[in-house]
Amino acid sequence: MGSACEEVANLVIRQQPCVALTGAGISAESGIPAFRSKGGLWEKFDPTVYASIEMFRKDPSKYWSIRGEFIRNYDAYQPNAGHTALAELEAMGLLRHVITQNIDGLHRKAGSRSVTEIHGSLREIFCVRCGKEYRAPRIPEGMPPLCECGGVLKPNTVLFGESLPPQAMETAWQESGACRVMLVIGTSAVVQPAASLPHVAKEHGAAVVEVNIERAFSSSDHFLEGKAGTVLPELLSEIRKLA
Ligand code: NAD
Repeated sequence: MGSACEEVANLVIRQQPCVALTGAGISAESGIPAFRSKGGLWEKFDPTVYASIEMFRKDPSKYWSIRGEFIRNYDAYQPNAGHTALAELEAMGLLRHVITQNIDGLHRKAGSRSVTEIHGSLREIFCVRCGKEYRAPRIPEGMPPLCECGGVLKPNTVLFGESLPPQAMETAWQESGACRVMLVIGTSAVVQPAASLPHVAKEHGAAVVEVNIERAFSSSDHFLEGKAGTVLPELLSEIRKLA
């Protein structure tokens, strides 16, 4: 009997296509804390006040007061070994797609090409009045930052109460229904509809492998316990030995 990691490596090689669903946990080792974890953002700030579309329309400076620093430091955050391992798996032809709930752009920065950001991206900022686009971190000063036309700027991310981009969700459902292995990495699997995607994969006969520091998805078929930045490079090296 091999190790759990070896078993999953065999699965990824033999049972293609494989897709990954990632959440805030994969970026934790890049210095971006998960919101729902202990000490995370939502413990200090009520998301319904600071990150809902309703409140954004009433007082956008609340949102910018907790997100502005992050957005202005956008380029300072770098992918970690977990993001890089997924990009390498894709380059080897063993990972067809990454569906991410993250808005930090780190999968693309690591070299992943086939990525769907179902909650949007902090990189793209647009004016809610004239539609002019800006790119983080190059955004005007001010609280909230304003466009040259005077309109409020909003990152192209999904706030609480907003619908998810339909094209991105369509791709996410399709990839989840068509894969034969899904790697569920660093997500608490509570935010819908992302939390349904591993169930869609399972219903269509895929094996679900969870990578997390603690088990969050009770119906996974395999659980690789540990930090994504450690477990994913280990899995990659196991795959390289066997492939
Ligand atoms: P979450 O905060 O609900 O859960 C994070 C999960 O990651 C937990 O299960 C935790 O045990 C696990 N985890 C923590 N550190 C880990 C590590 N080093 N390796 C592996 N797993 C680790 O996150 P979520 O499920 O993605 O949902 C939160 C929502 O907040 C999402 O919608 C996402 O868009 C947003 N968010 C994004 C970012 C980002 O873009 N980096 C950061 C925080 C929150």
